[in-house]
Amino acid sequence: MAAESKPARNVEEIIHAKSASDGDGVRLLRVFGGDNLARFDPFLMLDEFGSFEVSDYIGGFPSHPHRGFETVTYMLEGKMEHRDHMGNVGLLQPGDVQWMKAGAGVIHSEMPKQEQGRMRGFQLWVNLPAAEKMTPATYDDIAAENIPLYSLPGMQIKAIAGSLGINNQVLNGAVAGRSSEPGYLDIQIGDDPQELIGDVPDGHTALIYVYEGGVTLGRQTRVMARQMVRLSRIGTVQLTAEANSRLLLITGKPIGEPIVHYGPFVMNTRDEILQAIADYNAGRLTG
Ligand code: MN
Repeated sequence: MAAESKPARNVEEIIHAKSASDGDGVRLLRVFGGDNLARFDPFLMLDEFGSFEVSDYIGGFPSHPHRGFETVTYMLEGKMEHRDHMGNVGLLQPGDVQWMKAGAGVIHSEMPKQEQGRMRGFQLWVNLPAAEKMTPATYDDIAAENIPLYSLPGMQIKAIAGSLGINNQVLNGAVAGRSSEPGYLDIQIGDDPQELIGDVPDGHTALIYVYEGGVTLGRQTRVMARQMVRLSRIGTVQLTAEANSRLLLITGKPIGEPIVHYGPFVMNTRDEILQAIADYNAGRLTG
């Protein structure tokens, strides 16, 4: 069935990003995260970090653990260095993506490598199914030049992950083959407003985070910068974007398992969280 003939997904919720602080005093916008995460399944959190003020970011995210999910860091501006217990060192530069599967455990730091200028980017947390939570950690740095950039009429789209259709063109992202089938597009609208119809698999979660400009969905639902819209799970993504808007379209297949989140650990049960804390305290989180 052609995308245009399918009904548009409904707006379920509009979420306003909130100022927060994480790591060593890094000021950021928490778009979502925390409680009642099932509605975002398979996603757990989205942060936008961005500031011209060195004091807002220079503390970075010193050594800390994760277990049970994936972190996806996408830099727009600035430089961030990753180091982990496996000995990986990676420098994230503008346009680069790091896709890290914490699995059973990773201990890493994420530190700014600049002392002036703007730092800007996103970190998305993607849950893992129970079968993968205790698998070995993996780490992929994806350089900006290896992220497909598509020029569509009136817009440019970076395809970070998945395979999604936009205005009848299939966009194949740099990352594929993950169990929750994440789709992740960064959409930059040109100098004129544009209609956008996104073909997302039925049943998959669809989130749109506007980080510049604004979009309209349905008859009158306006979503502005620093707001995210969560759509229903059947139908196409349909919106009208204002000129020069920038938005993320994030989609994924729900895992459908219990989610227990405690700080840097996301497991299926409370006992597994207690085990993660015990393992970390005993120095055996990473095996
Ligand atoms: Mn981290």
